[in-house]
Amino acid sequence: MKAKYISESFSLWTKITDRTEHAIRSGSLHSVPTESLFLEDDGIQFFVRILKVLSLKAEAKKREIEIAKSTGKTVNPFLPYEEDLFVSDISSTHLCLLNKYNVVKYHLLIVTREFEDQEMLMTLEDFEAMWLCMAQFDSLSFYNGGTVAGASQSHKHLQLIPLPLTPKEPKVPIEPVFESVTYHNLIGAASRLPFVHAFIRLNPAWINSPTEAAKKTFDCYNDMLNFVGIKDIGNGRQSGPYNFIATKDWMFLVPRSEEFYRSISVNSLGFAGTLLVKNEEELKLLKKLGPMNLLRSVAVAEQ
Ligand code: AMP
Repeated sequence: MKAKYISESFSLWTKITDRTEHAIRSGSLHSVPTESLFLEDDGIQFFVRILKVLSLKAEAKKREIEIAKSTGKTVNPFLPYEEDLFVSDISSTHLCLLNKYNVVKYHLLIVTREFEDQEMLMTLEDFEAMWLCMAQFDSLSFYNGGTVAGASQSHKHLQLIPLPLTPKEPKVPIEPVFESVTYHNLIGAASRLPFVHAFIRLNPAWINSPTEAAKKTFDCYNDMLNFVGIKDIGNGRQSGPYNFIATKDWMFLVPRSEEFYRSISVNSLGFAGTLLVKNEEELKLLKKLGPMNLLRSVAVAEQ
């Protein structure tokens, strides 16, 4: 891999905070206001956000579809990207942007410089970009592999948000399920998760050498795909949708069967234990069903 690395003086956190202030001033960043609460299920404190206003992101997506229909061309918000949202170059293959419609403060998108489809499997270069960013501050990265996994844009993008994810411990709400894992070689399965998944514990010191971490964890990712039965069906295209989450301590991968339960959309963050609902009606539905059942209904049942 011939990556041109970000400079020695790369301080991602400063760039993100500076750029956020700039993007708010210029009107390019549209933070989405939410209310939040915890919903306990099977000992997990799921963190649920409820949109306070109609989703700006949904309206923007509707506009993109209308433009695509009238012009015959798909709108790609990452190529070209909005200058005001640009945060930093990462490598010769990736750069990072602020998420224009963020629910979580300092939500970053790690996008490929050239177009690659979101249904392509992750590459060694994706992993390298991910670890170069994660080495800069305590954070969680995720990848929504395809529309059914919750991706709303088809240009390849990994995503990164600062940790902790919620105001109380643990840093990632789903973490307690990983206390009891059965390992098949290096790949683990948590007995409390009622759906197909793969889990792997990482050596947290790996993050100190992002390029080396990329090589090791890219191999782990391929083992995890293999474990859950997701393959390359040609030219790097995935055989099925899935969510992928990484912290410096572990990686977690979940194949998907559905994007929605009724009107509730689930992406990788749902499998980290943080859910988003659009209104009180969806919250009522979620409370009735229970968060773990919601996850089970959009994942793949164990045989
Ligand atoms: P996902 O929905 O998981 O595929 O993530 C794509 C993200 O891109 C969404 O969370 C949007 O908020 C965000 N987004 C949409 N348009 C833009 C844009 N022009 N610049 C930066 N982020 C965008």
